[in-house]
Amino acid sequence: MTTTVAVAGSTGSIGTQALEVVAARPDRYRIAALATGSRVDDLIAQATEVRPDVVALADESRLGELRDGLPAGIGILSGPTALADIVETADVTVNGVVGFAGLPVTLACLSAGRRLALANKESLIAAGPVVQRVRSTPGAELVPVDSEHGAIHQCLRAAGRDRIVAAIQLTASGGPFRGRTAEELVAVTVDEALAHPTWSMGPKITVDSSTLMNKGLEVIEANELFGTPAGDAGYGIGIDDIEVVVHPQSIVHSMVTYADGSTMAQLSQPDMRLPIAYALAHPDRFDVAYGRIDWSALGRLDFEPPDREAFPCLDLAFEAGRSGGTAPAWLSAANEVAVAAFLDGRIGWVDIAAVIAGTMDAWDGTPADSLDAVLEGDDRARRYAERTVAAPVPDRPRR
Ligand code: NAD
Ligand code: MG
Repeated sequence: MTTTVAVAGSTGSIGTQALEVVAARPDRYRIAALATGSRVDDLIAQATEVRPDVVALADESRLGELRDGLPAGIGILSGPTALADIVETADVTVNGVVGFAGLPVTLACLSAGRRLALANKESLIAAGPVVQRVRSTPGAELVPVDSEHGAIHQCLRAAGRDRIVAAIQLTASGGPFRGRTAEELVAVTVDEALAHPTWSMGPKITVDSSTLMNKGLEVIEANELFGTPAGDAGYGIGIDDIEVVVHPQSIVHSMVTYADGSTMAQLSQPDMRLPIAYALAHPDRFDVAYGRIDWSALGRLDFEPPDREAFPCLDLAFEAGRSGGTAPAWLSAANEVAVAAFLDGRIGWVDIAAVIAGTMDAWDGTPADSLDAVLEGDDRARRYAERTVAAPVPDRPRR
């Protein structure tokens, strides 16, 4: 039987790798839909090659170009709801959109009772409680694509019936600035922040990796995905049971420690096609390997604690995760604004944490009990963060 796949954010790093995975097993998978923000030329090239049933484009102003360039027989959706509409065309949707813009795809896919292969972490972080509700739709299934969460998903499959988990260890490469002091980080450039040592990814997540905000967001993501209240035995998983361990080789993708002291880890080459393939094939296993560990050449695996002074974004995320409500939505929105401003050269790298800290100080304590509350929180945080970015530097809160 062929599984049909829709790819939201098909022109990005995750999207293009999802197409490679599907192309590796054309007997098993077929692309039903492709969707992107505004990269029309790339979308046309992809559609010409894979011939989906439908393509979707968020940016309506470029619809004419899409109509002119697309081969005949492929349906077109466009406008604000277009991306969410593609979930109806396929058995599985890969959400590879970047940022809060990915939320409609996440909600639509789970509400439709279909499988979501989720790379877009921001939707789960900003709208956790709202996403949790639609996860219980009959047929809905969320399989994480983020490599750490894919690893934890695999490690938890080894758990017994009671799932007595004592802790989760999220590994972090440490990014390009591992080992630098707070003083040394003041002058880092955009090019340096974009030079990730082990992963090739889109610009936003690459900057997030350099500040360790990516790991902070992943702590909240892990808590949403795998958090459980303490049961009769007293073992639950909350935000403070999630530990961050720097592991520069990016071979151990995360670990789960059980109550008996056993730790299960998932190891593989750093290649996002593996977690994408895992999410598509679940509960089976994909049978094409994207690299294998050469144990005769591996040599060593190193682990060290993160430097929480030089990388304050990590604790900003822990604080937002503990606060709950719309705090993670504010954190993620402020981070999106700060990272965009850094990439545009409007603020320095150390100002990213300062903008987020200043925005979080203004968080209004609202619960995330409805989609409207999340949308409003996102909007307020963005406006606050934009004002902070525009403020003269001496007025900007510094950490
Ligand atoms: P990217 O920048 O390479 O691609 C983003 C995609 O989203 C593009 O196709 C773009 O057209 C689309 N998009 C952007 N804004 C949009 C909008 N407003 N409406 C509709 N579509 C829009 O990003 P990426 O690196 O592929 O990351 C995608 C997501 O996956 C992020 O949430 C990231 O955190 C997560 N992720 C990525 C990797 C990786 O290796 N790249 C690893 C783990 C998690
Ligand atoms: Mg990750």
